[in-house]
Amino acid sequence: MDCDVLIVGGGVAGLSLAWRLAPSLGVVLVEAEDSLAYHTSSRSARQMQPAYGPAPIQELTRRSIAMVERLSARLPAPILMPRPMLTLGTAGEVARLVAGNSNLVALTHAETMERSPELRPSTFEASALDCTAMEVDVPALLEHYRSQAVAAGAVVLTGSPASGVESSQGRCRVSAGSHTITAGTVVDAAGAWADAVAAQFGARPRGLQPHRRSVAIVSTQNPPDPGGPMVEPADESFYYRPDGGLLLISPCESVPADPGDAQVEEADITELIQRIGEVTTVGITGVVRAWTGLRTQPADGLPVVGFDADVPGFFWLAGQGGYGIQTSAALATLAAGLITGGTADGDGWLVEALSPQRAGLGWAKRSSACRA
Ligand SMILES: Cc1cc2nc3c(=O)[nH]c(=O)nc-3n(C[C@H](O)[C@H](O)[C@H](O)COP(=O)(O)OP(=O)(O)OC[C@H]3O[C@@H](n4cnc5c(N)ncnc54)[C@H](O)[C@@H]3O)c2cc1C
Repeated sequence: MDCDVLIVGGGVAGLSLAWRLAPSLGVVLVEAEDSLAYHTSSRSARQMQPAYGPAPIQELTRRSIAMVERLSARLPAPILMPRPMLTLGTAGEVARLVAGNSNLVALTHAETMERSPELRPSTFEASALDCTAMEVDVPALLEHYRSQAVAAGAVVLTGSPASGVESSQGRCRVSAGSHTITAGTVVDAAGAWADAVAAQFGARPRGLQPHRRSVAIVSTQNPPDPGGPMVEPADESFYYRPDGGLLLISPCESVPADPGDAQVEEADITELIQRIGEVTTVGITGVVRAWTGLRTQPADGLPVVGFDADVPGFFWLAGQGGYGIQTSAALATLAAGLITGGTADGDGWLVEALSPQRAGLGWAKRSSACRA
């Protein structure tokens, strides 16, 4: 099989890029697992929060929300829902948060209790509210990316791990399961495996470290208002959010892990249930289901996006950490622009901030498996 761009990885990164590229280029996407988005992309908290993360992430999130709002309008049911974010803290903590982010509005203690009456009043002084935060239907978003890519001609192959690589006349020949694919550009969208995939192509790893994080859906005696906000303390040590008549909770652990099928550590959830009992009156009665995923990022916490300077035709789209859903539409657009040579004027600062060659990633010259 011959194509312009081979994308390795069928999570949100690979699927969103296929969506942006397929209208103009021949795209093949290979996914190692038998189903798409088996790993981190189907294990998120499904939030899009413009006030979350460093400046490049906030910018990409704002753009992505606008794009997803537009595509949502064409779908049978909306896939974005307002889900304000309430950050609890001391008066000082809240003042600092609000001073540093124009999306946040300070709420008094009484206003906070009105928003989230399940809180125990003595456990916080004030809060900061972000009304621009959204909850997103991730399966619907992923299906939109996939179906639009396929409709535009992309070929999506599951059960096809990219493994052997050869180069010939400036093109890469890649074995992926029972397929052999030749491509001028190979995109590494392999999530927790991105450094390992890069090494196969002769690219120097960028220090992309997976960290496990868990989420549980629990039942409660006193379920909060289903339209209520997501709530977290200022130290981001946990969060909870109404989820239909249930509650979604996360201990926000960030524990280095090897790439793999991440599994829940029961103690993380047990301790969190106790903590939520201390700060709220919801009364958790049982765990309905729980899961763990891997948030993968380099030392400076920003995604790694762009062509590798040492390996012609090798393109990075990795290291999205805890922001891969909320930045996906805009990050894919930026990546597609870099691949087709058409980034928007004014995006230079983003391209530089995310460059695989930026300082701090341990970039160094290395020989290439894809060099002609
Ligand atoms: C608990 C939790 C909550 C989160 N909440 C949010 C949130 O609210 N909002 C947000 O924006 N983000 C959130 N995130 C982060 C977000 O989920 C990730 O940033 C995003 O899913 C990463 O997508 P990805 O496509 O890079 O990785 P993945 O979804 O892991 O996809 C990579 C794919 O590459 C495949 N692959 C690997 N090697 C090969 C190979 N050799 N050949 C073929 N395929 C290969 C893997 O099988 C995998 O399917 C959360 C993460 C976790 C764990």
